[in-house]
Amino acid sequence: MTKRVLIAGFKHETNTFSKLPTDIDAYRKRALHFGGDIRAAYTGTNTEIAGFLDTCEKYGWEPVLSVVADATPSGRVTREAFETVSGHILETIDKEGVPDAILLQLHGAMVTQDHDDGESALLSLIRGKTGRDVPIGVTHDLHANVTDLTAELCDVLVSYRTYPHIDMHETAARCTELVARMLGGEIDPVVTVLRGPQLDGVDHGRTTAPGPMRDILALADQLTREHDLLSASVNAGFPWADVDYAGPSVIVVAGRDNRGAGIAADALRAELWRTREVMTIAPVSARQAVAEARETGRLGAPFIIADFADNPGGGGYGDATGLLRAMIAAELEDAALSALYDPESVAACAAAGEGADIELQLGGKLEPSLGAPIAARGQVIGLHDGAFKLEGPMSTGLALDLGPVAVFRTGGIDVVLASNRAQNYDRQFFAAFGIDPLKKRILALKSAQHFRADYAPIASGIAVVDEGGGITSHNFAALDYKHLRRPIWPLDDVSDAEALQG
Ligand SMILES: [Zn+2]
Repeated sequence: MTKRVLIAGFKHETNTFSKLPTDIDAYRKRALHFGGDIRAAYTGTNTEIAGFLDTCEKYGWEPVLSVVADATPSGRVTREAFETVSGHILETIDKEGVPDAILLQLHGAMVTQDHDDGESALLSLIRGKTGRDVPIGVTHDLHANVTDLTAELCDVLVSYRTYPHIDMHETAARCTELVARMLGGEIDPVVTVLRGPQLDGVDHGRTTAPGPMRDILALADQLTREHDLLSASVNAGFPWADVDYAGPSVIVVAGRDNRGAGIAADALRAELWRTREVMTIAPVSARQAVAEARETGRLGAPFIIADFADNPGGGGYGDATGLLRAMIAAELEDAALSALYDPESVAACAAAGEGADIELQLGGKLEPSLGAPIAARGQVIGLHDGAFKLEGPMSTGLALDLGPVAVFRTGGIDVVLASNRAQNYDRQFFAAFGIDPLKKRILALKSAQHFRADYAPIASGIAVVDEGGGITSHNFAALDYKHLRRPIWPLDDVSDAEALQG
């Protein structure tokens, strides 16, 4: 008989330091698809859902499409949003019957108003309907904070192996293959997760340069072969979450009686600890970045300045003004910035109309302490509906919506003003709004690392700005952690002996 496999997605990377709650509207702004609409939204894209659909087809399974929800990183997921999405999954099971297997696309760092560990809360609800015997395969982002309970509640758990995340489809395929082997009675997997006393590590997972993440993945592959594991994943963790278990972890999936699982997990955890201080990026001040950009950037090969500390992809507000202020002070020419979150300024531009000369208070409205609004005179050079499709290597083909968008030119800088918060990891963040990235000498982005996938190939140089403030800054000591397990590196002194004990 044809296997019926439920497919759903419920993602969030929760920055608990953000004052913006993640409500159902935040999901509507990014992605909230039900039932048959899921196929239209994801077919042909480089996403886990497309990976699930493609592998279901390969095995001749009948997909039961439930809900796929994703929101830009921000504060705790509201009770309403959690209940809406999880409730829909449970309802699908009630209506369609208990499926033969379940494939879930989760981020792995969801914190809700009621649950510090959103993923295990969701999995517990699902297990309440299905019992323990229905195979559940889960994909995680490389920045998941993985708990023991999540590991216990699923049968297969695999994470991305790239940062920028360009292997989403592939990750889902790896997950589904193992679920297929379970359904065939070939394997009986157990998931083991281990973490050490560290909040950050493996260079935050960067795979764009030789470094600890690439090395530990090679070690994971070697251990997989040596111990006949089914899968070994490494999570860099998401440090901007004030929850007990935040930080890097390793996940091993292996047969129930495979003693090699523990040996491999221990070895990987030791490697996480050993390499914790290695970083392949060297953040600079906005002023330094702007000076370097002015020297190096040229038409056809722009210099890229990434605003690391205000990255909406990690929960940053996207409206901090420090970088833009430095750009304006330097009187840059042929420069552009995308996107500054500022619905009020977008509305002011729309009211004034295209071509109008106006003065705006740019950005800085959500958290003025991270850069107050900038009073700037300029011209409205474009008004757009902010919907477009990603064309770069990450989430290729997926639709994104910045809400109403205005392009405001002040001096020699074109500022893309958006009504939705979003990380810029695709050249369409400029191109969709009439700005050709190759016709600018300097491009400034709200992104930490993902931008490299699409921008590095055209860049004459790259600078990453982090001045030690902001809720996605590397300066963890400036954040008020209350619930994190202690002691933990780098906030506390932890000896090697303490770190490596079981
Ligand atoms: Zn990630």
